[in-house]
Amino acid sequence: MRLSRSFLPVMKESPAAAEIVSHKLMLRAGLVRQTAAGIYAWLPIGLRVLTKIEQIVREEQDKAGAIEMLMPTLQSADLWRQSGRYDAYGPEMLRITDRHDREMLYGPTNEEMITSIFAGEARSYRDLPRTLYHIQWKFRDEVRPRFGVMRGREFLMKDAYSFDLDEAGARNSYYTQLLAYLRTFQRLGIQAVPMKAASGPIGGDLSHEFIVLAPTGESEVFYDAAFDEFDWAQSGLSYDNAAGLEKLFEQVSATYSATDETHDEERWTKVAEDRRRTGRGIEVGHIFYFGTKYSESMGLKVSGPEGTMVTPEMGSYGIGVSRLVGAIIEASHDDAGIIWPDAVAPWKVGLVTMRGDDPATVAAADDIYARLQAAGVEVLYDDRDERGGVKLGSMDLIGLPWQLVLGPRGLANGLVELKNRRTGEKQELIIDDAINRLT
Ligand code: ATP
Ligand code: MG
Repeated sequence: MRLSRSFLPVMKESPAAAEIVSHKLMLRAGLVRQTAAGIYAWLPIGLRVLTKIEQIVREEQDKAGAIEMLMPTLQSADLWRQSGRYDAYGPEMLRITDRHDREMLYGPTNEEMITSIFAGEARSYRDLPRTLYHIQWKFRDEVRPRFGVMRGREFLMKDAYSFDLDEAGARNSYYTQLLAYLRTFQRLGIQAVPMKAASGPIGGDLSHEFIVLAPTGESEVFYDAAFDEFDWAQSGLSYDNAAGLEKLFEQVSATYSATDETHDEERWTKVAEDRRRTGRGIEVGHIFYFGTKYSESMGLKVSGPEGTMVTPEMGSYGIGVSRLVGAIIEASHDDAGIIWPDAVAPWKVGLVTMRGDDPATVAAADDIYARLQAAGVEVLYDDRDERGGVKLGSMDLIGLPWQLVLGPRGLANGLVELKNRRTGEKQELIIDDAINRLT
């Protein structure tokens, strides 16, 4: 992408309205623009990041055997009357009336709809187990939308729903998603610690929130340093290995972690003092098992192996895809700007000409741009006729993992500069070596 032809509005000044660093940086680096309270337009660079996060979430769900579909944003009120949540949900639900005076709503979540769709098709135990998911915009009329996309009113969520014949099956589906979440966040390049959540509607131990550590997080968190050290994603563990999944769950459960809501002083004091980690955290995912609450109310029944009718056990599994953009920035930035983890960076390399008015520099940069593109490397090429210092400042702000900087002096000796955004390390390289490094 050539910056001169793109739509990448970068702001020098820190916007006063933004309270936290990720929100400021998302505005300054041109990722989003607010269009109404808690509602954002995703500009090209923000959309690239959002799409990359979404794709990683999708791939890890697919590997875990979940099946993708897409449900609409608008739902009928009747669906929610059936579960009793139309009244219970309260003012967070955006209610809409169509031209025929039918009551509708903008979906804040999809338990009712997925259960009703599944109930229409599932006939016997052979249709189980199934985990279905979609990645779709939600609307919740939050009392206090704030922190940009972190607590928006309209936001993008991956929500999955599992259907099982019995509790043992439901536990296995839960463990499967637990592992998928650990792998998802690891691939995104962030640490998200699973923490037992305040027990859901039916209690039990099957409810975890995934928390990214950041000083601006909304909740206080406590956890054992083991979460910093272990390979929780257990790279070799197969989703077919039910015993292995259960062991992983037990290992997670046995290692202390809690938010202020679930914190247990007595257990905490048993964690060795030098292993206690505290801080603040942002919830980026939530998984829980809720039994037959929705299958019962939405009339989902299948015939069991013995012919009697069975009400399937369900769980639901959310990831805040748009919130993750903010959370990743909270966890990965410095004074100069964003530092994207490789996997979600909008482009891998920023190509910068220090002198946009020097024909030899421009010719060399055009050639490198073409070669990197031909090699399939994602490049943002700052080809504007701007001062070099301004361009470098914008690149630091945008936070691509690598910067390739070309100036007349270096080029006279056939050299370019390659900078690692995270470490700040700079290297003078001959052009071919620099290209090889990046391909
Ligand atoms: P919170 O406690 O932050 O309001 P929640 O418990 O309401 O979250 P869930 O209903 O479990 O959230 O939704 C799944 C995920 O969707 C959350 O873990 C979070 O990452 C994301 N999410 C929820 N509400 C918002 C919001 N207003 N803006 C952006 N993301 C959100
Ligand atoms: Mg909420």
